[in-house]
Amino acid sequence: MLNQQTLDELKTALIKERDLLTKELETIAAPDPNLPGDWDIKHSEWGENQITSKEELETGESVNESDEDMKNKALSDRLELRLKEVNNALKRMDGGNYGTCEICQKEIPLERLKANPAASTDIEHAEKNGI
Ligand SMILES: [Zn+2]
Repeated sequence: MLNQQTLDELKTALIKERDLLTKELETIAAPDPNLPGDWDIKHSEWGENQITSKEELETGESVNESDEDMKNKALSDRLELRLKEVNNALKRMDGGNYGTCEICQKEIPLERLKANPAASTDIEHAEKNGI
């Protein structure tokens, strides 16, 4: 079992990461009011000013903006996924079942938790789970 001090340290690390991820997400996305934990990409360049040049009028698409949008979407998906893992880990801490593998229920080695406090599986099951 993890002792309280270790738990506190890991919790602090998780909260720090959650705040960091939230801040990063806020720069490119906004929380979805209808779906807690879900984020929507900001389309700040879109709307009335979407079509800005003659070329874009002719082709009907704005290449630079959609590239940027796709990049932001990929980044936001990654951040959102990680944020969910971090929040799940914090939930498990509150529920008292933090630090055990979700698949085999064995204890997750402390070194692994220190490297990734949001880990929900031990190393044996990490690869299958993709985390
Ligand atoms: Zn396992």
